[in-house]
Amino acid sequence: MQRRAVFEALAGREDHPTADQVYDAVKASLPAISRTTVYRILDALVQNGLILKVCHPGSAARFDPKVHRHHHLVCLSCERIVDIQAESLNHLSLPDVSGHGFHIEDYHVHFRGTCARCARKQKIGRRPSRAAGRPRAGSGPTMRNPRDKKRG
Ligand SMILES: [Zn+2]
Ligand SMILES: [Zn+2]
Repeated sequence: MQRRAVFEALAGREDHPTADQVYDAVKASLPAISRTTVYRILDALVQNGLILKVCHPGSAARFDPKVHRHHHLVCLSCERIVDIQAESLNHLSLPDVSGHGFHIEDYHVHFRGTCARCARKQKIGRRPSRAAGRPRAGSGPTMRNPRDKKRG
C-alpha cells in the first residue's frame, strides 16, 4: 500500500525531510511510485493528523512524524531542524486574538540560530559566505531568548 510506504518512510526520522526527500526514500521500496502521489499522500497524512507539516519560511515545507507537542531549533545556515522538549514552552499563555476572529488550535516554537556543526565550520574556515554580511554583536552565541524588552 502506497500510503503505508510513505508513512513508514517518514516514521522514526528526526531530520524533518522535505517532500522530495520522502519521495526518494519511498522510491527505494516502491520504484513505480510518482512524485505527485507522494506529495498527495503526505498532504492527506497531514490532514488526518498522522504527521505534521513544518512550515519553514524561505524553503520547502518539511515533514515531521512526531505529532505530539515539541519545539524546534532551526539552523539558519544549513536549515537543519532539531527537536527539543521544553516543558516551559508547553504551557505558554496564548495571546488574545479574538480581535482577529482567529481560533488558535495549536502552536510550537521555532528558535532560529546556528547549529553546532555550522558554528564549528564558521570558526575553522572563515570562508566568505553569502550570509556573511550580518553585523556581529558581541562574541556570544546568536541564540538568545527573544524577549520584547523596551528600551529607554
Ligand atoms: Zn547548521
Ligand atoms: Zn519536530
